Amino acid sequence: MTPTSGAPAPAERNPYEAMLRRFDAAAKILGLDPNLYELLKIPDRELTVAIPVILDDGSLRVFPGYRVQHSISRGPCKGGIRFAPDVTIEEVRALAAWMTWKCAVVGIPFGGAKGGVRCDPRKMSRREVEQVVRRYTASIMDILGPERDVPAPDMGTDEQVMAWVMDTYSMHVRHTVTAVVTGKPIALGGSKGRRESTGRGVTLMAREALKVLGMEREGCRVAIQGAGNVGSIAASLFHEQGYRVVAISDVSGGIHDPEGLDIPSLLAHLQQRRTLEGYGGGDRIDNAALLTCECDLLVPAATENQITSANAERVRARVVLEGANGPTTAEADAILDKKGTFVVPDILCNAGGVTVSYFEWVQDRMGYFWEESLVNERLERILVNSFHDVRGSAEKHNASMRLGAYILAIARVAETTRLRGLYA
Ligand code: NAD
Repeated sequence: MTPTSGAPAPAERNPYEAMLRRFDAAAKILGLDPNLYELLKIPDRELTVAIPVILDDGSLRVFPGYRVQHSISRGPCKGGIRFAPDVTIEEVRALAAWMTWKCAVVGIPFGGAKGGVRCDPRKMSRREVEQVVRRYTASIMDILGPERDVPAPDMGTDEQVMAWVMDTYSMHVRHTVTAVVTGKPIALGGSKGRRESTGRGVTLMAREALKVLGMEREGCRVAIQGAGNVGSIAASLFHEQGYRVVAISDVSGGIHDPEGLDIPSLLAHLQQRRTLEGYGGGDRIDNAALLTCECDLLVPAATENQITSANAERVRARVVLEGANGPTTAEADAILDKKGTFVVPDILCNAGGVTVSYFEWVQDRMGYFWEESLVNERLERILVNSFHDVRGSAEKHNASMRLGAYILAIARVAETTRLRGLYA
């Protein structure tokens, strides 16, 4: 992904290195056994596949695809599938590890995985996307399954993609296996509330952060980078809850109004045009300027490496709510900490999605589906408890919320790993 501000060094922008920096710092504070350290930092399994597809113009193109399973210590692997033109194995490896820590932070019985295909779904027809999805699924099928590894949507993939993954897997095993993926359409065994869950979780984390900081919700100004599943739902819920959403962007740039945007009309435009470009209200703002605009809450909900050593000093928000995975580099962490910015880290802040994915997997396996109110109530309980667990861990170790979350997660994964022992 191209940086939207400044030019931090390539090492700072390597997401796996960024994950390891936090892992190392947390392991040190925790006094993690050196043998467990060796075991937990390396992914269990990595699969690279070639995905040949006949394009609509009759030519053949081979797309690289990846699935990385970081850990099965706490249960089957769980993690999204990303379709983006610049996906790399390093990025997928980092995202897989983050899934392990995230599931542990919220205490759900999964390990971590992630998948990616280097392709640009915005420049492909639906038929071409479907071919990629089905061939990718068939190619990684041996390591998938409700008891093995359960994918979900991520950047560039959606409910329809999950339906194709489920169908392809089911065709191969000769019966319908809804629990092999989550984030499916409700008609195919999806959970009510799953689509909204990550954005809803971000707003719950905002509420808890404001309480801790003694800040008022009324008039609180929110800037959101990214207007996809996470960003657009968060914007809609923040607006409904009385916050003032002053800026939002997508890959084409953003819209800004210090008095507050008309979010329902902006989201209607986005739904119709699939881009914020051409929206009539507010002023245009680029993605770099959005990150440093005047606001109280900043929600990076697009991609990695957005808050870096090049712009962290200029971030004005009191609270950063990481809707995206890895939006802040390790170098930027130190700058934000020094400024006293309250950061709700990705592995807690965006864990609403995987929590409701867990509920979806449970419902599919039970064959019994819950009302949305029950889903939301259980989601809230898990996230709010996790927020306070993380805060407790941070306070105990005199560390940031991010390190508090890593310490909690690593301790939980270390415990199951120790209990299982080493099969050699
Ligand atoms: P999405 O594909 O629905 O939306 C991504 C949004 O970001 C789009 O508006 C896109 O235009 C914008 N964007 C992409 N690159 C950008 C850039 N360089 N600068 C500015 N905007 C850019 O994806 P999503 O599902 O909303 O995921 C967004 C982030 O949240 C990712 O980091 C993802 O891993 C993370 N996440 C998603 C979920 C989920 O349930 N969907 C759960 C947890 C974490």
